[in-house]
Amino acid sequence: MKYIDEYHNTEAVAAFAGKIKSIGSRKWNIMEVCGGQTHAIVRHGLDQLLPDEITLLHGPGCPVCVTPVNIVDKAIEIAGRQNVIFCSFGDMMRVPGSDGDLFGVKSAGGDLRVLYSPLDAIRIAEENSGKEVVFFGIGFETTAPANAMAILWADQIGLENFSVLSAMVLIPPAMELILSSRSNKVDAFLAAGHVCTVSGYEQYEVLSQSYSLPIVVTGFEPLDIIQGIYMAVAQLEDGRAEVENQYSRSVKREGNFAALRIMQEVFTAVDRTWRGFGMIKSSGLAISDKYRRYDAEEKFGKVDDISDKDSECISGDILSGTKKPFDCHAFGNKCTPDNPLGATMVSSEGACSAYYSYRNLDLKKAGLK
Ligand code: SF4
Repeated sequence: MKYIDEYHNTEAVAAFAGKIKSIGSRKWNIMEVCGGQTHAIVRHGLDQLLPDEITLLHGPGCPVCVTPVNIVDKAIEIAGRQNVIFCSFGDMMRVPGSDGDLFGVKSAGGDLRVLYSPLDAIRIAEENSGKEVVFFGIGFETTAPANAMAILWADQIGLENFSVLSAMVLIPPAMELILSSRSNKVDAFLAAGHVCTVSGYEQYEVLSQSYSLPIVVTGFEPLDIIQGIYMAVAQLEDGRAEVENQYSRSVKREGNFAALRIMQEVFTAVDRTWRGFGMIKSSGLAISDKYRRYDAEEKFGKVDDISDKDSECISGDILSGTKKPFDCHAFGNKCTPDNPLGATMVSSEGACSAYYSYRNLDLKKAGLK
């Protein structure tokens, strides 16, 4: 099928792997910051096609993984209230809070609905005027426009029983945190194509210049990713530090003007805690004063200011590229997708979960499975 098969073409992927081998002269660490790319890399074994000199690091590209415990706790508390219909994307349902998850609330009789779009929550609110309908707004720049649109729509029709619990985060501040760390190992980034489809990549040019490192905006299919890696290695070998756009079939430098405009209208940037990382300045999107009545924290109280309890979890080190899932002693025994202890095991797009699902042989070899 056109646009599917051509980006899965194994000969073309192998040809790029050969080109990377032919130009690589030293060790380079390249980090992707997209859970979809992490999943595709591990699932298709793209990292195993690369020469030993090229190491792929799996950064904070999964919004489910980085949603902090205190916001999950707030979601569980709101969802457990009598008069609330709590709406969420399915992958948040089993993310562990301090004590349980949203599935636990549902099995205890809570009214939880799994949705594909926040706009569906508007319809549910219209049909249930006697109840408060709360949408769990998680995600990166990719999902923020739809959340903004739901709030604008609610405002337009004068809906009073709808609100959003915002856990939305922005990628560039997390990339900057990694680069500014003393232990930074990243030589180049693959930026997430879907995020840049909304945001464009002007902000990435600032990062690239400030830290003198290549950034390649990259898609999700195997051929996209291997080409993105090739472009990053070519820049590193040439001593260049630029932003290049591998995903030009979707991404424009200026991004999606309409999406950015509604995000700017409805949200404001705030400091936000990332699970496994801690607080990152100006990395979150909160609902602006103008639309405060649609902020679930206004209706149900603020999120508690507690820190993560993933004490034995090293997901922060994995997300910042200093460790790999196999470096964690809990991987595959105490921590599995059915019983996740930390950020990078909670979603199928997390690095630990992807390694657990697609590196069975390695697990067997390590005596872990
Ligand atoms: S295996 Fe589990 S405990 Fe270990 S780093 Fe990954 S998520 Fe954390």
